[in-house]
Amino acid sequence: MVVRAGREFLAIPGPTTMPDEVLRAMHRPPLDIYSDAMVQLTHGLLDDLRTVFATKGRTYIYIANGHGTWEATLTNVLSRGDRILVLESGRFAVGWGNAARLMGVDVQSLKGDWNRAIRPAEVEAALRQDVEHKIKAVLAVQIDTASGAYNDIEAIGKAIKAAGHPALFMVDAVASLGCMPFEMDAWGIDVAMSASQKGLMTPPGLGFVAANDRAREVHKSAGLRTPYFDWTERDGNEHYQKHSGTAPVHLMFAQRQALDMLFDEKLDNVFQRHRLLADAVRRAVTVWAEGGALSFNITAPKERANTVTTIKMANPAPLLAYCREKCGVILGVGIGDLQGKAFRIAHMGHVNAPMILGTLSVVEMGLQALGIPHGKGGVTAAINYLGENVKP
Ligand SMILES: *Cc1c(COP(=O)(O)O)cnc(C)c1O
Repeated sequence: MVVRAGREFLAIPGPTTMPDEVLRAMHRPPLDIYSDAMVQLTHGLLDDLRTVFATKGRTYIYIANGHGTWEATLTNVLSRGDRILVLESGRFAVGWGNAARLMGVDVQSLKGDWNRAIRPAEVEAALRQDVEHKIKAVLAVQIDTASGAYNDIEAIGKAIKAAGHPALFMVDAVASLGCMPFEMDAWGIDVAMSASQKGLMTPPGLGFVAANDRAREVHKSAGLRTPYFDWTERDGNEHYQKHSGTAPVHLMFAQRQALDMLFDEKLDNVFQRHRLLADAVRRAVTVWAEGGALSFNITAPKERANTVTTIKMANPAPLLAYCREKCGVILGVGIGDLQGKAFRIAHMGHVNAPMILGTLSVVEMGLQALGIPHGKGGVTAAINYLGENVKP
């Protein structure tokens, strides 16, 4: 017996559910890439990305996923043999650092832990030890999508300042941009990057980078620059230079529509929606955890991300299979160190109360059907929380 006809719920942390309006925005012929409409589309997106990153710096659009966009940031500001400091909090900053290592960069890691966020005081101490200022850049992610950690980027920015260290501060906001506050300039970030397919509700394939003047100054002498990613090339006057060739026209139609929807809702409301729905998920997990079979991966409540919740559990495969095959809800698997030891509930992007409550209900149904010990009433706790906090 199955109860899965109807719309499938994709509750994985990227690609996320796309709004129908975004899908429809792509269902049209391409524009002439030399037309005014195309030039305006490019400039509109570049300007609005400044708003989303909260920066007066320059923005760049690449045809790339997050991994490609990591490369875009690294090639533009680093040289072979440069040293960088990678702040671990799960899988993603480490992945970014590994890309740098493969490009000939000397990678120093600030060892983290998969069940907590980066400690700003440790960042300050590591930078103070680098008296000769060999470290050229500090890499961190705002939300680590594997561990579910939320890093306080503002506090890390302050720690770098407090250490009096000149390294560039580079931040990955792939799993957080458009879902929670991000203040590039105010937080002292020099280079920020993100991608289209998570909070930005667009198909995978667009990568976004923002760079301030300090980063663009360092860029001038960077030895790893490559033609496609190069900021100097893209800062040129000709429109085709903005894309280093043919623009990804349809992805841009989609991203335009998605940004319009985020701006219509107003970013502050978008952030509140994510926080409320994340809190609802956390209420449910807290109750289920009373049964002893599952627990939050991130120990400290205020270090838990508002876009994805990672839940530790021995052998989650049967639960995931039940949700998928019986009910049409696709949950995220554990990745990296948590492979086979955790599952993830994504709550990022185009999500609303029925999607989240429906997903939670199916998880609770699966826990019951499979006889997995759990506290009863997780979904009720989530409903009560939302009922109290979403006022008429
Ligand atoms: C998904 C993700 C990436 C990688 O993006 P891809 O498009 O899969 O290459 C990088 N960083 C974070 C934080 C992510 O969540």
